[in-house]
Parts: sequence; structure tokens; C-alpha cells
Amino acid sequence: KESSEVPAAKLKPVQEQIDLTPPLTPELLQLAESIKEETLSLHVSVLKAMLPQAMRAKYKKSVFPGAAVAKLDQNLQKHFAESKFIENWDEWIKEASEEDKISAAKAIRKGLLIVEPKVTTKDAAKKQLVYASILSDADAENHIGELNRKAPKQAAVLNFLQSSKEEHTAKQLEPYGSKAALEALVKKGLISKNEAVLNRDPYEGRHFETSESLTLLPAQKEVLSDITRVIDKKIHRTFLIRGVTGSGKTEIYLQAIDKVLRNGKEAIVLVPEISLTPQMVERFKARFGARVAVLHSALSKGEKYDEWKKIRDKKVDVVVGARSAVFAPFENLGIIIIDEEHEASYKQEESPRYHARSVAISRAEHYNCPVLLGSATPSLDSYARAQRGVYDLLTLENRVNDNAMPAVTLVDMREELKSGNRSMFSDDLIERIKDRKQKGEQIVLLLNRRGYSTFIMCRECGYVPQCPHCDISLTYHRTNQSLQCHYCGHRETVPTRCPECDSDQIRFFGTGTQKVEEELHKTFEDLSIIRMDVDTTRRKGSHEKLLTAFGKGEADVLLGTQMIAKGLDFPNITLVGVLAADSMLHLPDFRAAERTFQLLTQVAGRAGRHDKTGEVLIQTYSPEHYSITEVKEHNFLSFYEKEMYMRKMGGYPPFYFLTMIHVSHTDLQQVVQVTEKMSAYLKSSLSESTKIFGPVASPIPRIKDRYRYQCMIKYKIEPKLMEALQELMHSYQSDIARTDLQIIIDTNPFMM
Ligand code: ADP
Ligand code: ZN
Ligand code: ZN
Repeated sequence: KESSEVPAAKLKPVQEQIDLTPPLTPELLQLAESIKEETLSLHVSVLKAMLPQAMRAKYKKSVFPGAAVAKLDQNLQKHFAESKFIENWDEWIKEASEEDKISAAKAIRKGLLIVEPKVTTKDAAKKQLVYASILSDADAENHIGELNRKAPKQAAVLNFLQSSKEEHTAKQLEPYGSKAALEALVKKGLISKNEAVLNRDPYEGRHFETSESLTLLPAQKEVLSDITRVIDKKIHRTFLIRGVTGSGKTEIYLQAIDKVLRNGKEAIVLVPEISLTPQMVERFKARFGARVAVLHSALSKGEKYDEWKKIRDKKVDVVVGARSAVFAPFENLGIIIIDEEHEASYKQEESPRYHARSVAISRAEHYNCPVLLGSATPSLDSYARAQRGVYDLLTLENRVNDNAMPAVTLVDMREELKSGNRSMFSDDLIERIKDRKQKGEQIVLLLNRRGYSTFIMCRECGYVPQCPHCDISLTYHRTNQSLQCHYCGHRETVPTRCPECDSDQIRFFGTGTQKVEEELHKTFEDLSIIRMDVDTTRRKGSHEKLLTAFGKGEADVLLGTQMIAKGLDFPNITLVGVLAADSMLHLPDFRAAERTFQLLTQVAGRAGRHDKTGEVLIQTYSPEHYSITEVKEHNFLSFYEKEMYMRKMGGYPPFYFLTMIHVSHTDLQQVVQVTEKMSAYLKSSLSESTKIFGPVASPIPRIKDRYRYQCMIKYKIEPKLMEALQELMHSYQSDIARTDLQIIIDTNPFMM
């Protein structure tokens, strides 16, 4: 602005112009407002979630004399005499003498010095120097001829730059001549030197085979035509595609995107973090090449920023990414696709607690474009919506190659124990592993570790070491023989005698992947195993490396946790074994059965995807539970009906809405008091039909010395809810700021 109504004395000069284009579009700014309201989050936390980490501001404190410098004591006067403020206070105070520190603290208390936070943003782009020839070919030839005798290196560089006609970095030019040769050429005015933005491409140097659209099968064609009709009409619809694994959903996504791009619009594809494997990325890069940006957590901050910048600068029109890619700053969206829509990773479990599915639908409404939700095992919430016509249901019943679904066998582990088999492998599993090994076929073994502890226990008195700060058993880590708390990081050595009864029978209990690997080696001498769990995949790219090795046939067995259940597509896998299928069935979470069914169906889908038929063997202690029997029957619909009945009886989503309030404090009495007061307030201000449960202690009642209580609100229609919750947060704001109190409101809880 050239002028302002604000008095000139109150205006401050502009220090620096940070962005030429605003990083967030008007649509995203508006979206941030509504997410803030719906999730009761701070506005700034929503904006942060929308931006790449590299763009976040850093805070630096600077200090100003609040009154005349003369009022400061002599010690301080000299520091403020020349400059009116100290720019980097934190640095200054670190280096200051004791006297200065004391004077400064006094001055701040008296208001003679004012501490102000100063936001600094660094340009997240990375720049580098590039060189290029600025001569015509004829001129260059003359100069090269002259240089050849006196300065052959300069001649070589010039020759290369002239023939390539592109900009190059000093590093790229090293084979031709040194930096000195380059500078000499610049000085002679023969080549240019400029600063250019470096593109940190995570897939640099990788070649992706190009792939053309396949001719769709009739069932696929039908699904695609329903989608393209909506694309052509320029209206919003949400489609739910339920299609068994290998039914050709991804091919439909690709062709729908193709259609959208032809209309000059853009596409967002969300994939669960863990299945953003090279195999998946490759399919999109192969079809759309350099038009694709990829966003996931294995990229460095800089790479993420550069990929994001390509979207903002309209250099790409497709983005494939994990949850937060739903905020890709496109301005002409034509479709949003969410693969494996039932996945828990689409819900952010920290503020802002948004679900990518509902954000996607809001954005698609704005742009009048479709959302495609795809899954072999849709979430109950989505499937129920499709049944009621809120979403359009599309179904693919068969695999593309007409392969039968793999045969599933259930093994009752209680029977194994009765017949004297105390090992973690049933006789059936052992026999089948031997068979596959002999045939040179591959095996996937899933250890479902969620809800399955790896603790040590005294066999005499039952004592289990607990974390002194959290109410949870310590986890045994074999590699460094320690016990660790997975919540607070507390670590101690493994006791050799029980602290309760002094018995020496205190030992490892439960099963970890390392333990299974050991047992496998004991049972089968020459079995080669690739283990995939948090320990073996911590390093960047290791997940990918292990999968590639397994795909090349470098091991007989791929053994792992949940992370192996998705995305694998290797023709030689003919056996999938599941150890402890029911371990998460007993979690205190109403979605436990749904998660069990989804995981088992997913992993079963890894077997026999190509010519060879596959087989699945599930070891369980609850072979009669419908979440396991329906996996055997490959019957989603039957599972859905049974689970819906249970939800209805229990009064859970999708029949009711839930909101959870989590309260924590280092003082137990405080937590109970606050939670009780909140519950009473809600009871008095909400409708009679709304039920409020609690306060009750949380499933893990203490973490990091903080006591945790919770309240659950269950309702069908509750127009006063948001207002009441806002009121609650408001009334505790100062307590939260002043004390240890923490209140979390989750308006759409996913993990209980
Ligand atoms: P989903 O995403 O449902 O698991 P995909 O799209 O990955 O299924 O398809 C499974 C396999 O079948 C892939 O290898 C894919 O290339 C192939 N495929 C998909 N559609 C066709 C088609 N119309 N014709 C031939 N092969 C296809
Ligand atoms: Zn004991
Ligand atoms: Zn702990």
C-alpha cells in the first residue's frame, strides 16, 4: 500500500519481502478456517500442517531498551549505545558475563528492556551457481582456437558449454576444467555465471519405463465410465470403489487422472505412507512422467520443499503422497483419489486432528470434482455411507487375471498346545514352509505385533517390570539387553533375579520379530530370511532395499510386522503365514475387529497374485471370531453385516458420533477434578439424548508421569456440541497456559 489510515508514528518499515506468490491459496486459507472450527485446533497449527516444514518460521528473540538508554545501568548502557537493540538475544545472553546477565534480568523485570520475539524465515529453496556459454557458435570456435594453445582447460570447458547449450554447475564441469578456469572465462566475458535454484529431486537419475493405458476389462470400464460422467458434468461426487486386491483399481485411477489432465486440471492421489513404495510411485511416474510430484516422509526437508514448490509453481499436475498431500496447493483440481481409504494413517493423531478423507471431500466440493475412495476392505464408516447413498458405490468382484482368491486355512493354536506343540509355529505351517522352500517359492510371514507385548515376566510370581513413569510394561530389547518404555524412553537393564520374589526364573515372554527369526533359524537350518520391522527400516531407503532384495529372490522368507501387509506384488509368493492373528482383537477399541479383518485380508492378498496359486495359513486362538472366519471366506459383506450389528448394539459409529476428551496433569487430583467438572458442564448444556461417559481413567492411565483421564460424548444429532466444546476450551485456556493441565478434544476419534 502507498498510504495508510494508521498514524505514521505507529508504522514500521518493511524489512524484507519473503514471498512473491503467497504460499497458501485463498481456497486453502478458507479451508484452514473450517478445519480449525471442526477440529477445535489453533489456526496456526492448521496452517503449519498445510505447509512444508522447510517453510516454517523460526523464532528469535531480540531486545530493545524500553526507555531511554540512559536509564539502564552502566553495564548495559555500553551494549545499547551503538545499536538500539540486540538482535539475537539468546546468543547474546549465552556469551554475556555474569554481571551483564544479572543487570539484564533486572532491567527486563523493571520494563527497562523489552524482549520481542522476531520471526525469521530462511529461503527454503537451495541456490547454486551455474555457468553457460553466451557466444554464437562461430565466435566460440574462434575463441576455442585461440585458447587451445595457452589455456587448454578453458578451451575444453568452453567447448563443452557451447555444445550443450545448457547451464551447468562447477561440479558438473569438473571433468573439463577447474573453478579457476571457469572464473577466467567469466572474466573474459565468454561465459555467464548466474544463481539458479537447485531442484533436489528424490528420484534423480532413476529411469521409469513409460507405460500406456491398458485396455480395460468390462467391469473396469463400467466403473471408469461412472467416474468420467461426473468429471464431464463438472459436479462433485464421492465414489467408493470396493475392489478385491488385484481387481485393477490402480489402473482405473490412472485412466481417470489421464482424463482429468486432458481437461487441463490437476489430480491428488493419497496413498498410505507405508505403501508409498517404489512399486507404487513407479506406476504413476511411468504413466505421467515429469508431471508427477511425490510427497512422503522419507524425503528430506529440502526435497519435500522442492516437490511442494513444483506444485505451487504449476510445474506438475499430479501429486502422489501421504496424508498431508491432501493440502497440495493446486488451484484447478479435477480429482482426488484416496487409495486404501480405510487406513488409520489418514487421520492425524496430533493437532490439528483432521481426517484426509473429509478434507478431500471439502476441497472437491469447492472444485466441483469427484473424490475416489478405493479399498478391498472399506472402512465401516465409508461403506455405511455408500449404503445410504451418500457416496456412490462401485464394485469390482474379481481379480483382473481371473486368479482365484487364495485358499485360507485357520489353525487353532489351543489345539496345537493340547497336542504338545509349544513352539510358535503350528505343524501345518512348518510343513508348508518346508514345501515352499523345496519348490523355490517365497513365503511372507506376518507377526501381528500390535497389542502384543514383548515383556519379561517372572515365571514364579508373575511379576512384570513396569515403567516408573508410565503405567505400562517395559519392552524387552534383545540387541542391547535392555528394558525400554515405548512411551517415555525410560531404559533399564534386564534384572537377573525377580525384584519381588528373588527367583531367577525371570525371563523374556511374548514374541518379537527378532525372536521369530531366531526360532525360524532353529527350526529350518537353511532358510534365508529378510526381517522387516521398525528396527531394520529406520534408515532412509532401507524399506525399499529390503523389498527389492526379496523381489529379486534373495531370501525365502519375508518376515515382518504390519508394514509388510501392503503393496507387495511379487509373483513368487505362494504362502502367507500369520502368527498371532488375534492379538489386536483384544485391544480396548471398538474398531478392533474391523482392523483385524482389514489387516488379515490385506496380507492374504499378497499370495498368488500371478500365475502360481497362493495359500494363506492363519494361526489364531479365536478361530470362531467372525473377523477371522470371514477372512477365510473372503466375504467382506458378511463381515460388514455382523460388525454393523455389533456397532448398533454397542452404540458406536457409524450409528453414533463420538467425541473424546482427554485430560492429563501431573497431579492426579487435578485431573479427576477437571474431568468431572467438564463432564458435569457437558451434561447440563447438551441435549438429553446425548450420552456422556466418564470421567474414567484412560487405557494407559499414566504416561511420562502425567495422569490421564477421559470423557466420551456419544450422540446422533447435537447442534450445541461445538459451541459447548469451544466454551469448555475457552474456560480452561488460562489454566492450560499457567499450569500443567493439558486438554485434548478429538471430534472424530480413530484410535481409541
Ligand atoms: P488393484 O489396485 O485393485 O490391486 P491393479 O490395478 O494393481 O489392482 O491391477 C492388478 C494387476 O493387473 C496389475 O499388474 C495391473 O497392471 C494389471 N491390470 C490391471 N488392469 C488391467 C487390464 N485391463 N488389462 C491387463 N492387465 C491389467
Ligand atoms: Zn518373582
Ligand atoms: Zn515410561
